[in-house]
Amino acid sequence: MDPEKKITRLEEVIENLLSYYPQADVDIIWKAYVYIAKAHRGQTRLSGSPYLSHPLEVAYILTQLKQDPYTIAAGLLHDTIEDTYSTAEEIRDQFGPEVELLVDGVTKISKMTFSTSEEQQAENFRKMLLAMAKDIRVILIKLADRLHNMRTILFISPAKQKEIVQETLDIYAPLANRLGIGWLKCELEELSFHCLYPDAFAGLQAKIDKGQEARDKIINEIEKVVTLELEKAVIPAKVQGRSKHLYSIYQKMERESIDFHEVYDLLGLRIITDSIRNCYAILGIIHSLWRPIPGRFKDYIALPKANMYQTLHTTVIASRGERVEFQIRTEEMHRIAEEGIAAHWRYKEGGVGEKGYDEKFVWLRHLLDWQQELKDPKEFMDTLKIDLFPEEVYVFTPKGDVKSFPFGATPVDFAYSVHTDIGNQCVGTKVNSRLVPLNYKLKNGDIIEILTNPRHTPSRDWLKFVKTCRARNKIRSWIKAEQKERSRELGREILEKQVAKYNQDPATVLKTKDLNDIAKRLNYSSVEDLLAAIGFGKITGRQVVEELIPREELEKYDKARETSPLKRLVKAVSKRAVEGAVKVKGMDDIFVRFAKCCSPVPGDFIIGYITRGRGISIHTRDCPSMAGLEYDAERKIEVEWGKKAQNAYPVRVNIGTENRPGLLGMISSAIASWDVNISWANVETFGDKTATLDFDIEITDLDQLNKVISTIKNIKGVTRVERIRNPSKYKAKIKGKRL
Ligand code: MN
Repeated sequence: MDPEKKITRLEEVIENLLSYYPQADVDIIWKAYVYIAKAHRGQTRLSGSPYLSHPLEVAYILTQLKQDPYTIAAGLLHDTIEDTYSTAEEIRDQFGPEVELLVDGVTKISKMTFSTSEEQQAENFRKMLLAMAKDIRVILIKLADRLHNMRTILFISPAKQKEIVQETLDIYAPLANRLGIGWLKCELEELSFHCLYPDAFAGLQAKIDKGQEARDKIINEIEKVVTLELEKAVIPAKVQGRSKHLYSIYQKMERESIDFHEVYDLLGLRIITDSIRNCYAILGIIHSLWRPIPGRFKDYIALPKANMYQTLHTTVIASRGERVEFQIRTEEMHRIAEEGIAAHWRYKEGGVGEKGYDEKFVWLRHLLDWQQELKDPKEFMDTLKIDLFPEEVYVFTPKGDVKSFPFGATPVDFAYSVHTDIGNQCVGTKVNSRLVPLNYKLKNGDIIEILTNPRHTPSRDWLKFVKTCRARNKIRSWIKAEQKERSRELGREILEKQVAKYNQDPATVLKTKDLNDIAKRLNYSSVEDLLAAIGFGKITGRQVVEELIPREELEKYDKARETSPLKRLVKAVSKRAVEGAVKVKGMDDIFVRFAKCCSPVPGDFIIGYITRGRGISIHTRDCPSMAGLEYDAERKIEVEWGKKAQNAYPVRVNIGTENRPGLLGMISSAIASWDVNISWANVETFGDKTATLDFDIEITDLDQLNKVISTIKNIKGVTRVERIRNPSKYKAKIKGKRL
């Protein structure tokens, strides 16, 4: 290998380009050449060649990939931002946004190095490169760059060599394979193999050379037989001998722990014909000549590989017992197998047509679904979700591992993916060493570091921005556990209060053993669950107290409090009525009370507040008192209206009128016309011939309330109708006015 012997000249690059794209505008390429000659002036490569030889070779490889003039110009310019004083802005000014995007993309990718032996990590890294590249041409330039660097790798230090070679095998050769560029993949692998294991490479080469003559003889014989048979059948075909490349022989020997002579498909023939139909016809002829080895036939025509590779493979036992592998394909399939994505970028007259773009996108789709290389069917399904550009971002851990997340994921998602505790205790994040908010959206290539504090706990707000199920579930389960803990405390408080109410000492009455028995009797698995149930209002403290204190005792105290049986009955009924009216998210059958400060009615947006000792009270979301300091944000709880809401909710309305006779009657009957009860009313008249009427009415839902209000508004003489949000404060205001 003496790669730098012949230095490519720009004329060769242009000549090559014009051979597949005669109309190409080559000015931009000349301009790029002049630019880099200036920018890289005085720089030399480690091989001693002038630096310019590298971009020229890269440009030349890009013409082998049949790229357009912009890509070739970008190939010439690809090291300018990194290695010279040029800037992205300058490239943009001189060569336009398309070239700048390509050069910038290559620069970004080149800045990242990758080293791990884990296949999954390599897979993620490859996906990250694709996602970052945005334009597949960036990857092609990078591949051309890597290929030339591999060709000249012997000039750099052994330690650095090893790093680059490993990366080539892990990332770039598979990418080339993915893009279907067979020759590029093979060359990268051969160069890597040669560099990593020079002895094994030389040994293998020697063994192959040794038997070459004998093999050539066999191949020639077989070729003759096949050619003759095909002529007889009048099938147009080219038969070619085919040598396997060293790296794949080596891999096979390693993988299957076999010796060189056992690598049986060393003999290979390729037959290229004109149609799919003839591919199968040829297969039939070969199978009739020699016995096929079962399990070695693969039909990649009917089932193409993800990189669109199509060919029939079969291995037969030839006359003298040798195993010969045949590959049968059409011209078109051959072109795709060798050129891959480039085969789809042929330039038609007048440049790239619409169809060319469609094909490009088909290609992208195929290359982004990696299923052929994935073993796990679930992962397969997940990769199918990746569309044209992956809905994923790839970021680094501080150690350099790559993790993938759905698009829009945040540091909190990242934290939970590392460990539940890291998530729960996450207080801040550094992205690329800079502090960012927890709802920052991760970007490809970010390095994420999570800051934790063992005393910190998750916030309900995180649910608004996390993207992964894992983070969401972990946060929810933490909140749930925490709510349960809170309701246990609340349950104990309620119970203690109840016991104290009957003049008993909670410490002596509430013995763990007794509570245990009660819990069992009431179908709770533990005292903790029983207390939580009280806290949530699933059962009342009184119910439990009845189990603890003899009934006579309780009644004695009840009577002593002069609670009339009627009043108690009313209370019990109204309690039951409210049950089921509101659902606390995730719980059924919660006992709640409606806050008097804002009197919510069904239809209002509501929020629950876990009170100390009084269960959950329901407020409207805009209730001003909830904003007050005395309300602890930690005790707020999500609630929604239940289906069973059918009882009446008190609402106060305040009506301004002209002072006209009969108006009160008209308003009352308007209210009654909607089947709404008036439970309280107050009228004030003023000297300026206006009046204010206040009604407490019993409403079933917001819809009914709105109807009542609009009916009243339509009465002549009514100047305004208002729902009063906070009757107690409102009353104080009126009083204040009057004073
Ligand atoms: Mn380079």
